[in-house]
Amino acid sequence: MSDAFAFLLPFFMGVFGIIFLSASRWSGTSGVTWGLAFLCGAAGFVTPAALERLPFQVQAIVSNAFFLTSFWLHGDAFLVRIGRPRGRFVRAAIALLGFALCTAAILLHHDARMELFLSDSTICLLLVLPLLTGLLHIRRWTDRLLAAILCLIIVETLLRLSFLFTTSYILTLDTFLASPYLVYMELGASVLAFLYGMSILGVLIADTVARYQRIAQQDPLTSLLNRRGFEQALTDLTGGRHVAGAVVLGDIDHFKEVNDNFGHAAGDEVLKGFSLLMQATMPAGTIIARFGGEEFLALLPDATSEIATTHANALRTALAAQRWNRQPADRRITASFGVAVIEPEADGLLQAMRRADSYLYDAKHAGRNQVIAEGLIQQTSPVLRLVARQ
Ligand code: GH3
Ligand code: MG
Ligand code: MG
Repeated sequence: MSDAFAFLLPFFMGVFGIIFLSASRWSGTSGVTWGLAFLCGAAGFVTPAALERLPFQVQAIVSNAFFLTSFWLHGDAFLVRIGRPRGRFVRAAIALLGFALCTAAILLHHDARMELFLSDSTICLLLVLPLLTGLLHIRRWTDRLLAAILCLIIVETLLRLSFLFTTSYILTLDTFLASPYLVYMELGASVLAFLYGMSILGVLIADTVARYQRIAQQDPLTSLLNRRGFEQALTDLTGGRHVAGAVVLGDIDHFKEVNDNFGHAAGDEVLKGFSLLMQATMPAGTIIARFGGEEFLALLPDATSEIATTHANALRTALAAQRWNRQPADRRITASFGVAVIEPEADGLLQAMRRADSYLYDAKHAGRNQVIAEGLIQQTSPVLRLVARQ
């Protein structure tokens, strides 16, 4: 039984290590650290067989070095993942101190129990420290899962430590190898390492899916939502129910001229600038999206036409005042806007978007650089017109 575990553990730890290292291309830094941690763990288990011809003391010392490095890396990966300070030197000092004491126990005292106690206590510390550092900062369910399994590993290690002190016969290598302690140790380690490896794999896959989902819903130039992202944000907000509020549709005036006269990069600068101004001028909770080339949409939940129009006009003014690095200092860019109220009807949002589009079209034809919004008053200013709902 023990031989089977002795083979199984390094095998699947090695497999996990290789998977995490290969996955690091799409899963980020923690993937590399977890990969190395699992490979070090595998190396720790393989060492006695690999260094069979060398004295037991050498095998034990090298094996310990791998295990402590492995747990140091596990702590590191966890802290990186939850975005906490890594405290690398403190943890390295603990690992080195533990390693030095274990080595002394092996070389000077020939005491297997003392060595096990020292290495397990160090491993415990190397896991407890990152857990305590990060416990209050765990937000995602994936991080909770990892923290829970780290807790299990700590509990299992503590159980082993208490077992170690309630038995009296693990004094030499021979008694240790023949003891049920070894079988229990390998069984516990196998189950937990497998559980931990699978959880990390699940976490990395969940992270990657979430990242690609975000990318699929985002405009890469402005980082605003695209049409797909807008629809998802709306569903998240309303849960599929009717949304109340107003929509603002904005379109940059004569944008093609910017590209034609000053180059595509100048056009991109305007698009990014417009999106930043839009985020700065719209109220909190607004869903903002880039809907087409130079067309932007803002949905202001629960806003009246008056509120939406005020924000749209603030954006219009801010844009017209903006200077652009890639265009002459006196050149100004403007935009036209259509504002519509979402009526409480089945396709209220869709209808409001259509009406906002037609007001925008009117604004373009009326000379651009203006806001046309639904309201009761017919005309307030040349750049801010309120029209009755069409
Ligand atoms: P109007 O005032 O009537 O809106 O005129 P316009 O020139 O702004 O509108 P038009 O639809 O004729 O031109 C839109 C241009 O936007 C054409 C297209 O090349 C450009 N465009 C679309 N997407 C991008 C982009 O991501 N970057 C840049 N630089 N240009 C883009
Ligand atoms: Mg335009
Ligand atoms: Mg357009």
